[in-house]
Parts: sequence; C-alpha cells; structure tokens
Amino acid sequence: MNQKSYNFIRSFFSEYYRRHYSPEAPSKMEKREFGFSLFEGIMLRHKSISNPEELKNFLEASTPMDAYYSCAYYESPTAEMDRKGWLGADLIFDVDADHIPTRCDKVHDEWVCSSCGFVGKGVTPEKCPICYGEKFNVTTWPCETCLESAKAETIKLLDMLMDDFGFSDKEINVFFSGHRGYHVQIESETILSLDATARKEIVDYVTGLGFNAEPLESAQRIFCGWGKRSHVGVLEFIRKAEESDLRKIGIKRNAAKAIIQNKNVLLEKWASGAWWGVKGVGPETIRRLMEH
Ligand SMILES: [Zn+2]
Ligand SMILES: [Zn+2]
Repeated sequence: MNQKSYNFIRSFFSEYYRRHYSPEAPSKMEKREFGFSLFEGIMLRHKSISNPEELKNFLEASTPMDAYYSCAYYESPTAEMDRKGWLGADLIFDVDADHIPTRCDKVHDEWVCSSCGFVGKGVTPEKCPICYGEKFNVTTWPCETCLESAKAETIKLLDMLMDDFGFSDKEINVFFSGHRGYHVQIESETILSLDATARKEIVDYVTGLGFNAEPLESAQRIFCGWGKRSHVGVLEFIRKAEESDLRKIGIKRNAAKAIIQNKNVLLEKWASGAWWGVKGVGPETIRRLMEH
C-alpha cells in the first residue's frame, strides 16, 4: 500500500475514533497491559490505561490501526515482561475455522513453501511434500462454510461454559477474532488465579479429551455434561440414520439391522437412559455410536 492510501485509511480511522467510538472498557483495565500498532509501522507495548476516557483520548491522538489489551492482570503493567508481577488472567478460547474440519476442505486457501516455493491449495500441511520445510506463507479466504462452522462451534462452547461450568452470560464476552472465528473471554473471580494446569484441564474437558465413551448404567448421568451431550448426539444420529450410515461407523451388519428395525422402540428406551434390552444391540455397538 502506498503512502497516499495509508493516509486515506488513517483519516477514516481518525474520524471513527473522534466521532463514533465510545470505549467499552474491560474490567480492571488499569491492571492490564495495552498495546497498539501504529500506521507508521511501530508497535507500542507496555502501556497502561486507567479509564475509558483516557483510552478514547489516546486513540484519537495516535490513531492506531490495531489496539490490544492483555488477558492477564499485572501489578505494574508498564514494566518489562519479567517485572510486571502477574496477578491473574481471564480465560480465553480462540475458536478458529483453521482448526475445524469443514465441507469446503479449505480449497480457497493457498500455501507457498517458504523454502522451495512449492504451492498448494487447501489445508496447510505440516511439512512441505517436496523439501520437508515447515514454514509456509498462507493466504486464506473467509468462506461462508468456514465462518458458519466457527459460529456453530462457538455456540456449542458457550452452552458448555454456561451449562457445565455455570458461568453467567455477564461473565462471558464474545468477540469476532478478525480472522475466521471468535474469541470467547471469561472474566470471573473464580478463574482469575487458576494456574496453567487448571486451565489445561478446562480445555481438555471442553474438547472432550479423555472422554470415555462408556454407556452409562445410571440414567442420572445423562442429564449433565458430556454424559448428556453424547446421549443427545446418539439419539439425533439414530433418528436420521439409515443402515449404511451405521455400517460406515463400524457397526456390524446384524446390529445395524436390529437398530433400524427397532428404531422407535430404541429411541424411546434410550431417551430415558435405558441402554439395554434390544436383542442384537450390545455394549460394543453403543460404544461405537457414542464415539461417533
Ligand atoms: Zn518446500
Ligand atoms: Zn471454507
């Protein structure tokens, strides 16, 4: 972009900050680090801003193209990184279509190997097939399918955060990430001081890592968390499934036949949490359904 274009865009940013922008400040903003990338190509970091008014004044005066604040809280936000004095942090989830398998197969994206220049379309490989290089320049396109998939996953995540973890909607903020997804931010006293291990545990739960697809004997456990989620998922799948769908996920021919023939009885029984009692549909079949 040439200087003239930069100036043109900058004038619109300036106009926006002066006339239309009213800052929505994050909680405890005086304890956060702010950063700004300027049109002049400079990144300003380690800034402290104590109130929304000050933020607006700063944006008007320096017209940055991007503004950031840390999800961590610090004793001295303006100090160097190792001297800031970490006090706690919000919990942030980054939901991005880049990491969600989609129908479009990302055919609209193009990657170029930084080492040998080999070009490909679709999901960026871990290693270049020609030179095994691991660095790529990627040009992405936010297609409708990608954006929809990110939105659907974000909604699932929000349900989980509210139903399973009990966060209220007041504690949760959702922002468009600027790419192909959303940032979900939780500002809550209860998670503030959680260490890295505890945060990892939460992520593992949310992604279902370590989830054991055992059919549950107790009907109670189908009313919350992953128990409920897999239960609802199985019922929905069965409702629409044909014999070939069942075969595709590895269910044996006889069991698949039994499920289709007894679909209505099964759905009724399973809806109340009774997994047993249909001839030919054993625990192994149910486990396969749940894993699917
Ligand atoms: Zn290469
Ligand atoms: Zn796409």
